[in-house]
Amino acid sequence: MATPRIGVFVCRCGLNIERTVDTQVVADALAEHPGVAHADVYDYMCSDPGQVKIKDAIVEHRLTGIVVAACSPSMHEPTFRRAAAEVGMNPYLVEMANIREHCSWVHDDRGDATEKAVRITRTMIEKVKGNHPLEDVQIDHVDKCLVIGGGIAGIQAALDVAEAGFEVLLVEKEPTLGGHMAQLSETFPTLDCSQCILTPKMVEASRHPNITVHTYSEVLDVSGYVGNYTVKIRKNPTYVDPEKCNLCGDCTEVCPESTKSEFERGLAERKAIYIPFQQAIPSSYTLDEKTCLGLHPLRCSECQKVCEPGAIDYDMVPEILEEEVAAIIVATGYDPYPILNLAEYGAGDVPDVIDGLQFERLLSASGPTGGEVRRPSDGRVPKKVVFVQCAGSRDPENHNSYCSKICCMYTAKHALLYRHAVHDGEATVFYIDVRAGGKGYEEFIQNATEEERIRYLRGKVARIFREGEQVKVWGVDTISGKRVDLDADLVVLATSMDPHPTTEAITKTLKISCGGEGFLKEAHPKLRPVESLTAGVFVAGAGQGPKDIPESVAQASGAAAKAIALLAQEKLTHSPEVVSIDEEVCGGCGVCVGMCPYGALSLNGAGVAECNEVLCESCGTCVSACPTGAAQLKNLTDDQVREMIEVALANV
Ligand code: FAD
Ligand code: SF4
Ligand code: SF4
Ligand code: SF4
Repeated sequence: MATPRIGVFVCRCGLNIERTVDTQVVADALAEHPGVAHADVYDYMCSDPGQVKIKDAIVEHRLTGIVVAACSPSMHEPTFRRAAAEVGMNPYLVEMANIREHCSWVHDDRGDATEKAVRITRTMIEKVKGNHPLEDVQIDHVDKCLVIGGGIAGIQAALDVAEAGFEVLLVEKEPTLGGHMAQLSETFPTLDCSQCILTPKMVEASRHPNITVHTYSEVLDVSGYVGNYTVKIRKNPTYVDPEKCNLCGDCTEVCPESTKSEFERGLAERKAIYIPFQQAIPSSYTLDEKTCLGLHPLRCSECQKVCEPGAIDYDMVPEILEEEVAAIIVATGYDPYPILNLAEYGAGDVPDVIDGLQFERLLSASGPTGGEVRRPSDGRVPKKVVFVQCAGSRDPENHNSYCSKICCMYTAKHALLYRHAVHDGEATVFYIDVRAGGKGYEEFIQNATEEERIRYLRGKVARIFREGEQVKVWGVDTISGKRVDLDADLVVLATSMDPHPTTEAITKTLKISCGGEGFLKEAHPKLRPVESLTAGVFVAGAGQGPKDIPESVAQASGAAAKAIALLAQEKLTHSPEVVSIDEEVCGGCGVCVGMCPYGALSLNGAGVAECNEVLCESCGTCVSACPTGAAQLKNLTDDQVREMIEVALANV
């Protein structure tokens, strides 16, 4: 084997590293390390002049590998690998030693930090000495994208990908597209009618030649890898043929069974055969098997008897579809925090304590009261309405600790719309503080606070209960420090935003993660906000964290752009630094197969383990589990690790 000639490039990172680590001392120490042919220091190695320095040194000193002692490889490894490749060095002969996050940022003592920087960099020199040149794994891919969730975020993402010329499958679990935006009356900050701006998008998605919409459907299983995911989708039977249904509504008229309408948030009933709202997409009725008197055996059949076009088919069965997709966008949205968890606010006990989405339905012209604000208990027009912000948010002891971000804005909207609807009505808003960080948002809040008969009261509500026909609200005005007792006709709780209840299950199916609050987790909160940690799976909308419509749409377009960038590549690449199995050594015990969290390993026909290089994420689990040492990570073998440990512990 040729004698190694390693180059070491120590970065000062301005003062980020230099303040705590004496980089010249590090470079001088490493210049003496066996195998090092060149060592240098520079202010910013990642800058253009820094990269030129590295490239020139590779050529001039005929280097066989390099170590850049600087920041985290997650930041600049691609930068330095690309630079080295430009002068003919295999990129997998380039390593980074992290002397910033692992050293200068976490230590104060300059002497100790300098010594640690030397030790860290030595380990990477030993690693690079054992590295081999590798080539990226090339992957062919299909040209389709799956979007899960048909709210505004999913619709926008689907339209963007479809417009770029790629096929999209849009899967929505409810009988219609639209998500929560379809339930809203008017939308802040411009107060345009929600359905008026949403339904054209729903229609566009349903008619787009590149989009196939599967409503009343769920994703059962996902296998495979970026570029080649196999997806199993269950299409639940609606028992109504959308091609034949003419929306006459005769079935609903005769159906004897009803239940609370999900779309109206329990403020109205719906029949067992129903359409969630008139502009639903697909434009067709759905027979809800759970509410129906019974289909198997058939107990009623009234709807079928009156359905003139013969659209109702009780023999429909679930369909299981299998599709290949290259990328997946998860836009599963949110659900309001369960109001029954807010017993201190009388929720569940006092019928005139409702949540924000219920109030949206009362305000909506298509809602159960035709847009007139009326109390659920007796249908009276409420003359005094109390709005409670942060209901279930920012309350780590009892409820969610996080801020739901949109409640300040929608409460201001509610108070304004209530005052437009009930001219002699009075609105009181309890708030902790008002957060309105969006374009035109502060002005919108100002409008609400300056409106006559809207009173903003800084304080906390302690208890809400019923006394006769009145709702009593007890709280504290935290500015005056005085107790406030109010009589209200209606109380609207601005409930927290929870991740959609299916989020956890879908993350398991997709092998992506949830954050602590249960929302979809992004790969990096600042730099990779629409990617998950699984290649080819992207996140968008309120499922990733509380968001309003503009933010959900913007993030959806961001996720779509990432998916398009992937779909547009002729071939995808995967790191070659994966596991290799030495067939001569493997005993075929299969321990590794069961342990691999990515399903990358299997036993082949010869009875030895085999690694699917595209699936392997280099986690090393199998390497530590393999009893014979047959499983080794390329460029991080047991021998390399041993050398690295030895130099890390040796005297400086
Ligand atoms: P969602 O609207 O929740 O849509 C997600 C979709 O995914 C749903 O259709 C759901 O059924 C589907 N889904 C979930 N899980 C699965 C699964 N496993 N498989 C398939 N499908 C699945 N924002 C504004 O900008 N202006 C406003 O005026 C405004 N008013 C609001 C008022 C209230 C009371 C509330 C609560 C919110 C308001 N918002 C407003 C916020 C707005 O509702 C959200 O920003 C928006 O709906 C987020 O869209 P989304 O597509 O991310 O999520
Ligand atoms: Fe559709 Fe038949 Fe019902 Fe009319 S009666 S709405 S055509 S399913
Ligand atoms: Fe209603 Fe079911 Fe009877 Fe149809 S069969 S009318 S859905 S109860
Ligand atoms: Fe699976 Fe991890 Fe081994 Fe790769 S390194 S085969 S991902 S266990």
